[in-house]
Amino acid sequence: MSSRQSEPKGVALITGAAQGIGRAIALRLADDGYDIAVNDLQDMPELDEVIKTIEEKGRRALATPGDVSEELVVIEMIQRTVSTLGSLDVMVANAGIVIPEPFLETSVAAFDKQMAVNARSVMLCYKYAAEQMIAQGRGGRIIGASSMAGKQGVDMLLAYSATKFAVRGMTQSAASSLGKHNITVNAYAPGGVETRILNVFDDFLEPLAGPRAGRDGLIKSSVVGRIGEPEEIAHLVSYLASKEAGFITGQTVRAPLYVSTLSDLHI
Ligand code: NAD
Repeated sequence: MSSRQSEPKGVALITGAAQGIGRAIALRLADDGYDIAVNDLQDMPELDEVIKTIEEKGRRALATPGDVSEELVVIEMIQRTVSTLGSLDVMVANAGIVIPEPFLETSVAAFDKQMAVNARSVMLCYKYAAEQMIAQGRGGRIIGASSMAGKQGVDMLLAYSATKFAVRGMTQSAASSLGKHNITVNAYAPGGVETRILNVFDDFLEPLAGPRAGRDGLIKSSVVGRIGEPEEIAHLVSYLASKEAGFITGQTVRAPLYVSTLSDLHI
């Protein structure tokens, strides 16, 4: 138990924050002095743990579970955040899924699902967060999750790549509309970061290329030669959310650069 340290810098809302990169962002922004609303698909022990950890840091925390590909969920999530914590100053549209498929097995169901979770949710979060920030009249920070697959199409990730290119496009478009309101819009484009998503890659590739083929392919093609940690993306988001980043907008920042992609595995 620790007592409240100081007045909050503002309020940040992070989607898909029960684990992985979203969790790391929520904890980092709490360290930066924000009160935090965290979303994930449903109430779950992992979300409770994130809430407890934020409160131990002396910040207020709110769980706003629900599927952010649904418009009403996003509207209510933002309303609850504002009515409980007082405002919305930083929106991080982080939630995402990956469903790898060999190119000729690309399915409408998996395409539509990834479009809904990875792209439609970002559109909804960008739109309704901006509406709230414009009403508050003191600017804001909006940040989305793209991917290395949003900078370069990746083998067996046709639909996922499409969703992450979409995030880049929406980020530039929203930045163009919102600059006059002092709202910046940027995205992060991670490569291999140590989360559950890498297990999905490894499990999918194992029958085709052996164990750890996903992680090994990412290490081989990364210019830094390693998998990243969620906290390394959280540091970037912390900067993009800061007052000092007010001149940076419309950017999708790679972390890190990849010289080639999984297609080099020639599976
Ligand atoms: P993760 O699977 O560890 O976490 C994603 C979280 O989003 C999960 O807790 C999941 O329950 C939640 N989620 C999924 N669908 C949701 C929905 N409809 N509504 C609300 N929450 C939902 O993955 P991660 O690696 O932390 O990924 C975070 C973001 O970063 C994703 O958008 C992902 O595409 C992107 N990304 C990750 C990597 C990587 O290597 N880990 C690389 C590139 C991009």
